[in-house]
Amino acid sequence: MNDTSARLRQTFLDLITIPSPSRNERAVADFLCSRLSQLGYTAHEDEAGSTFGGNCGNLIVTVDATVDAPSLFIAAHIDTVEIGDKPITPVQDAEDSDILRSDGSTILAADDKAGVAAILEFLQQLNEAPIPHGKLIIVFSVGEEIELQGARALSKGLLQGCEMGLVFDHGNPDEVVIGAPTKLALDITIHGIGGHGAFPAKRVNAAKALAKGLANVNLGQLDSCSTANLGLMKAGTAINVIPDIATAEIEIRSHCPKRLNQHLNETLEAIREGAEQTQTVCINDDGSETILKASAETHATTCYEAFRCQEDDPVVLRACAAIRARGGEPKTVIAQGGFDASIWNQTIPVVVTGSGMHGAHSLNEYADMREMMQGVETLKQWVNANLPVTCGLGC
Ligand SMILES: [Zn+2]
Repeated sequence: MNDTSARLRQTFLDLITIPSPSRNERAVADFLCSRLSQLGYTAHEDEAGSTFGGNCGNLIVTVDATVDAPSLFIAAHIDTVEIGDKPITPVQDAEDSDILRSDGSTILAADDKAGVAAILEFLQQLNEAPIPHGKLIIVFSVGEEIELQGARALSKGLLQGCEMGLVFDHGNPDEVVIGAPTKLALDITIHGIGGHGAFPAKRVNAAKALAKGLANVNLGQLDSCSTANLGLMKAGTAINVIPDIATAEIEIRSHCPKRLNQHLNETLEAIREGAEQTQTVCINDDGSETILKASAETHATTCYEAFRCQEDDPVVLRACAAIRARGGEPKTVIAQGGFDASIWNQTIPVVVTGSGMHGAHSLNEYADMREMMQGVETLKQWVNANLPVTCGLGC
């Protein structure tokens, strides 16, 4: 293993063994600030954390231009999903292996510390062997795993000062993610009339109304570019109590706004019908009938908007050129999840590439150190003001 590979590995190990679940990124941010100051940079921290109950803001590092070239934006997120009570204990596949895994009882936190480590190693190498570049704005973001809240709170003015951006938050370093879907979260509350299970007269079971509605909601792969998932359902307090309230949460993702709307409307219609059809007929003292029904209350929130760059957009061409220049074979892909880039794309064009994280959010998560170094090499080319950017056909 050469010096830079050993250094990158150590940086990565340092980062993953400092827990930093979303809203609790302080310790890893302090580590980063001290590493950055050793490299001669001062990280500025914004107020993002205070917008979502976190203990840390986004860290922003400015690298001054060495030549007259466009300003570029670079980012990776420092938060992780929850890791539980156990510490992260990395295990190497074999002595000379490039693969690092968790011991199987936790995540590895390569999502996204593989990206953070790659950017730190890039800064170190930039100090050792200068590359001609324009101004670089580097952001280590917080709260990515909780619906991209840190990215949302980042100053738009800061982004607007840059021509385009590259985010490291993916596995394969040859891939450039050029699109991701919109995600909607639908909260459903069904109101019924609760009471004792043995006395159902004048009662309407909210759980039954919810189940009726959900039975007609389409889930899974809805069409070529849309999916839906029922993630949560809750109702009831005891077996002998008729529930007065039942709730469910459904997410719908789509790359197409028109289809997303259509799926949302169909879902709302099914839920409303389920409530409407859950009726209890009461006979009044005068012999007349009163029909009691359940009712549905729904609330849809857009978690993040879709983005889609075109193959010949300058940001895509530059990312592909950078990968090609380091000897890779660039390939554009469309993702099914959201990224900080989903938010930032509303301001400037941003694509996502990989630095060797795999199996994110699972106990099988692993990092490929060779791919992480390829991510570093991609970044060195990406910032290079002399990078030849062609359309890929050589013109
Ligand atoms: Zn991530």
